[in-house]
Amino acid sequence: MINQEDREKRHGLLINITGSGKGKTTSALGTCLRALGWNWKVAVIQFIKDGSETGERRFAAESGLPFEICSLGAGFTWRKGGNANEDIQCAENAWHKAVEYITEGKVDLLVLDEFNIALDKKYLPLDQVIATLQSRPSWMHVIITGRNAPPELIAACDLVSEIREIKHPFNTGIAAQKGIEF
Ligand code: ATP
Ligand code: MG
Repeated sequence: MINQEDREKRHGLLINITGSGKGKTTSALGTCLRALGWNWKVAVIQFIKDGSETGERRFAAESGLPFEICSLGAGFTWRKGGNANEDIQCAENAWHKAVEYITEGKVDLLVLDEFNIALDKKYLPLDQVIATLQSRPSWMHVIITGRNAPPELIAACDLVSEIREIKHPFNTGIAAQKGIEF
């Protein structure tokens, strides 16, 4: 159980993990693990990923911990020559869910996974998004992941890290695999 004193002492951060290398979502999930260890409430809202089975979704569903993962994306549709309207609708739905978590102060740590991509593609109004993020409770940490974080969002964040690709097995023909990518 989190006591109010813990929340009052906390300096809620707006964190952004961006860049072309692998490890953005992994980094956010690592922070979820750390937060869960302190009995914090944690939610991950996935803007691009659909509900395909992943290790983290299995863990969240089976652990009994206050850890929720909502995957509201349509998959990486633009990589498949996909449908922008569907992507915009998914981004709006996922953001609607995020606004609920933020305004109702439902969790101590909120991860908006691949949100940078939705903002870079202008699926949502950036000014309003930043204003809502800044209106969150003082004790709430938010982590945003994804490539191409927009400069205005970077300016509004407290902590920004860029993961740079040096090598990735995809480039030698090794496909995404269980336990590492999903
Ligand atoms: P992860 O979820 O593994 O931490 P990520 O969040 O940093 O990766 P995304 O941009 O979300 O990376 O990419 C999603 C998928 O694409 C992941 O399966 C990841 O392994 C793969 N990927 C990430 N970076 C690269 C890269 N530089 N080249 C090829 N595939 C990549
Ligand atoms: Mg990712």
